[in-house]
Amino acid sequence: HMGSLGGAAAGEKPHAVCLPYPAQGHITPMLNVAKLLHARGFDVTFVNTEYNHARLVRTHAAAAVSGDVVVPGFRFATIPDGLPPSDDDDVTQDIPSLCRSTKESCLGPFRRLLARLNDDAAATGHPPVTCIVSDVVMGFSMDAAKELGLPYVQLWTASSISYLGYRHYRLLMERGLAPLKDVNQLTNGYLDTAVEDVPGLRNMRIRDFPSFIRTTNPDEYMVGYVIEVTERCAGASAIIVNSFADLEGDAIAGMEALGLPKVYALGPLPLLSREDPPTPRSSISLGLWKEDASCLRWLDGKEAGSVVYVNFGSITVMTNEQLVEFAWGLANSGRQFLWIIRRDLVKGDTAVLPPEFVAETAGRGLMASWCQQQEVLDHPAVGAFLTHSGWNSTLESLAAGVPVISWPFFADQQTNCRYQCNEWGVGIEIDSNVRRDAVAGLIDEVMDGEKGKEMRRKAEEWRLKTIEAAKPGGPSRRNFEDLVRHVLLAKN
Ligand code: UDP
Repeated sequence: HMGSLGGAAAGEKPHAVCLPYPAQGHITPMLNVAKLLHARGFDVTFVNTEYNHARLVRTHAAAAVSGDVVVPGFRFATIPDGLPPSDDDDVTQDIPSLCRSTKESCLGPFRRLLARLNDDAAATGHPPVTCIVSDVVMGFSMDAAKELGLPYVQLWTASSISYLGYRHYRLLMERGLAPLKDVNQLTNGYLDTAVEDVPGLRNMRIRDFPSFIRTTNPDEYMVGYVIEVTERCAGASAIIVNSFADLEGDAIAGMEALGLPKVYALGPLPLLSREDPPTPRSSISLGLWKEDASCLRWLDGKEAGSVVYVNFGSITVMTNEQLVEFAWGLANSGRQFLWIIRRDLVKGDTAVLPPEFVAETAGRGLMASWCQQQEVLDHPAVGAFLTHSGWNSTLESLAAGVPVISWPFFADQQTNCRYQCNEWGVGIEIDSNVRRDAVAGLIDEVMDGEKGKEMRRKAEEWRLKTIEAAKPGGPSRRNFEDLVRHVLLAKN
């Protein structure tokens, strides 16, 4: 029937299908894009995996993810993620397994979902699908979009610098710098080797490339995988990045120079999609963990800039020894702290903190399992952020003007950390082999030292730049409007 071959018929509402990669740091920015599209008059179908959908239903009121109930024209759909059933339904799924299973098994279900949305269009009163916005990491969806002849936009949810880091894995291999010759190269200083002339990037060492390349295995799955999905972007109609030119202009230009379609910088997405006053749409939230509201109340009583906020995001895992080093570092710093310890933060086990630590920090430390991070970072009481430098956390801390102490875990976080410390002036790094003295010392330096003062000044400058980028009439909003007009509403 009409419309099923794509493109909005005259007068018909456009309908965007949004397909995030099923991890928190990907779902949230895709939700922000979906909200922007909905506010701009699109019908939206937001696709979660069945595993995450079940978690969201448990975490939030079921109605919030049941579709068309809360916000007309904004609904949710699901596809299976292809992983075998898990014995724990509330944990972070293994990233390499999820990459492999979505790539190998999700195209069929996604194709059938699109067909169903189109076949049911008349009956449900929803317009047929007119465009697809997919995570780069769900690049299999390109086939389905092409079959229907629809505009197909990919969202890259990490930093643009890390996109280049992945694409230049090939350069490291051509120069014989990767894969590693033996595992000693992980610890003998080899990773500090400078890598000259990396297009779009500055002052790179091997260790600043996304972490998957730190392998001796020439057939390492994640290396081939990230090269494949990042090269696949060339076939999209356009790319969205959660960034802005002041921050990553060179890297964004570097992406386009690799032969990608136009790259639209719409960041920071949380600022762009925030509505004042809030609408029913604003209340859609897709946090996979239940947020502990007591964190914000606790901060309310604290002096400005007096609290260290500690959070390693949704994926990072550590050993219990590392957890204990962080604990004593926080205790010995003498500061107040808010520490988010995810239920599955400690590898293969539940976190065990020494009772002496708990006794010693009672009253000045609050521990919780998940919080409203942007609100926490925006709270005047927060003076520093001990972070793993995930891209969303990086942007959220810039938007809040808070300096960071960075302990990068994996993937793009190494690259983000390098730029936070070396280019943007807002960060200081903790050695991956974390020691309590280093934690306490760096907290002291950031909270009280000269370096900390300078970082705070820089962070405040960046805060103002995020506002400039996202304000009405600012570059990110203009880019959004261009994307809508020239790509998503374009007749092909
Ligand atoms: N987040 C949150 N509450 C928490 C921890 C994390 O809301 O207690 C959010 C955080 O604000 C960010 C996302 O989860 O938007 C994590 O994404 P990021 O890219 O920083 O790291 P990842 O989890 O992908 O490693």
